[in-house]
Amino acid sequence: MENKESLDELRREIGDCRRCDLWKTRTHLVFGDGNPNAKVMLIGEAPGFYEDKEGIPFVGAAGKFLNKLLESVSLKREDIYIANILKCRPPKNRDPLPEEIEACSQFLDRQIEIIKPKIIICLGRFASKYILDKFGFSDADSISKIHGKIFVSNTPFGILKIIPMYHPASALYRNELKEVLLSDWIRIKSLFLK
Ligand code: URA
Repeated sequence: MENKESLDELRREIGDCRRCDLWKTRTHLVFGDGNPNAKVMLIGEAPGFYEDKEGIPFVGAAGKFLNKLLESVSLKREDIYIANILKCRPPKNRDPLPEEIEACSQFLDRQIEIIKPKIIICLGRFASKYILDKFGFSDADSISKIHGKIFVSNTPFGILKIIPMYHPASALYRNELKEVLLSDWIRIKSLFLK
């Protein structure tokens, strides 16, 4: 089966999800977006206000800055696939709860299994923790120490490079992180040329 068909089937399986309480306050479930055959997957935390309204990840202010970061390494949204750990918006954009991650992350796992990316860029501390734990780096340090570093994992679907990054939203309220983010992304630009 083509990746696109498998993703469509997974989306149908998730349906009108009520596996945690976030369905009560969501407008749209935000499944994921982009190229089903992408080599590069970006993983965020959870939809925000605009994502919830539109059903598409990273369309709000953080998404606009993310588009700039992608542009700085000559990637387009069509080249990559973006998904979040949580598919529904937590009220007032609060942090994901452990039980929400527990209920929802199976779907991110399946998206990764279908897409089989070569590179996963984790946006923020929640995505970094989840992905590093999942691929054998549960002893990794905090995001302030490991941002921009490349972790290499031998997975059932081949060699995977995992790169934790600060979340693009963090640069919106901490200006000093903007430069850090831009330079972290530029430093890994050569990974995308192959
Ligand atoms: N922040 C995220 O982590 N994901 C989105 O989709 C939007 C903002």
